Amino acid sequence: MSDTIFAKIVRREIPADIVYEDDDVLAFQDLNPQAPVHVLFIPKRAIATLDDATPADAALLGKLLLAAAAYARNEGHAKDGYRTVVNCNEYGGQTVFHLHVHLLAGRQMHWPPG
Ligand code: 5GP
Repeated sequence: MSDTIFAKIVRREIPADIVYEDDDVLAFQDLNPQAPVHVLFIPKRAIATLDDATPADAALLGKLLLAAAAYARNEGHAKDGYRTVVNCNEYGGQTVFHLHVHLLAGRQMHWPPG
């Protein structure tokens, strides 16, 4: 798999505003936020896209979502609500090919997304 900017963030080769870390998951502020809160949750072990995930990755994918939910809850966004997004490949709008969960909060979201 080719290296990505997110793998470099995991290895601390480029800076990021890290807000959460455990053995498997890293979370940091999005460089170009689309909401008052915009945090990216990534697995430290890179998976390129959701389409590349396998049943062996089930626990890791669950950890990403639970980490995002815990962060939103701890930051006081659970009651108003928030959105989680995983973009996959071109039509999904994915630009960084290291699977990540966007957490967006702090404003009203709209549906359908663009
Ligand atoms: P995607 O479009 O792949 O779903 O989302 C990639 C996200 O990564 C975008 O929201 C973009 O703003 C963010 N991003 C791209 N490069 C960097 C970077 O170097 N640092 C951080 N913190 N976010 C980045």
